[in-house]
Amino acid sequence: MIARRKIVAGNWKMNLLPAEADVLFKEINAANRALSCDLVVFPPAIYLQQFGGEKGTTFLGIQNFHPAKKGAFTGEISIAQVVGLKLNYVLIGHSERRIDFSESNSFIKEKVDAALQNDVKLIFCCGEPLEIRESGKHLDFVKEQLEASLFHISESEIRKVIIAYEPIWAIGTGRTASAAQAEEMHKGIRTLVEKKYGAKIAEEISILYGGSCNTSNAKELFSCPNVDGGLIGGAALEASSFLAIANSF
Ligand code: PEP
Repeated sequence: MIARRKIVAGNWKMNLLPAEADVLFKEINAANRALSCDLVVFPPAIYLQQFGGEKGTTFLGIQNFHPAKKGAFTGEISIAQVVGLKLNYVLIGHSERRIDFSESNSFIKEKVDAALQNDVKLIFCCGEPLEIRESGKHLDFVKEQLEASLFHISESEIRKVIIAYEPIWAIGTGRTASAAQAEEMHKGIRTLVEKKYGAKIAEEISILYGGSCNTSNAKELFSCPNVDGGLIGGAALEASSFLAIANSF
């Protein structure tokens, strides 16, 4: 059996002032070497430049970008503009982008293509709203998201992808998926990857859980055979909780 990469990623969203962000990044970066998983931090884009200069092993990612190379897109940033800043990852398909900024499956597909063209790894978020979970159609819903925006890419490209299952009803709500719910979905996603790309790739791809993951539930979630780490929001804003989660494998 292949040992998959374990990853804990922190999505800082639109939080932290420059000095606070600086302290947090330094604390995380200092502790990072002792961990058995990869750490990724998604700060507000404006901080990428200052963090990129720090020595250490924390990977950096951007929370959002526009898929076009350049052009009349006021307020947007292209990957080409940030790829020189030691950018390792991009976040695509987060439910806050899908819902609050009306990003469609086809726009998300364009972002996937843009990331791959710029040779950065991507964390592709998927997950169902509460009413879909309650209707029992959550696996179908996520399958549709993957087929609409991700499964058009090639075998060599899918190797640069990490999938994050983030049930919308669990994001920022304090309501976490149970280990059984997470494992059911992660296994379902891995089976879909296997059907599309074969058993070897399915075995290798890392699938993260996101949605109110914290120091109390990370151990149980990460002990599920198909959960390879977490995408963390609120609990990523303090080094102590973020690092405790990263120590939960
Ligand atoms: C997220 O926004 O990706 C997330 C998982 O947030 P939280 O951990 O706060 O639920």
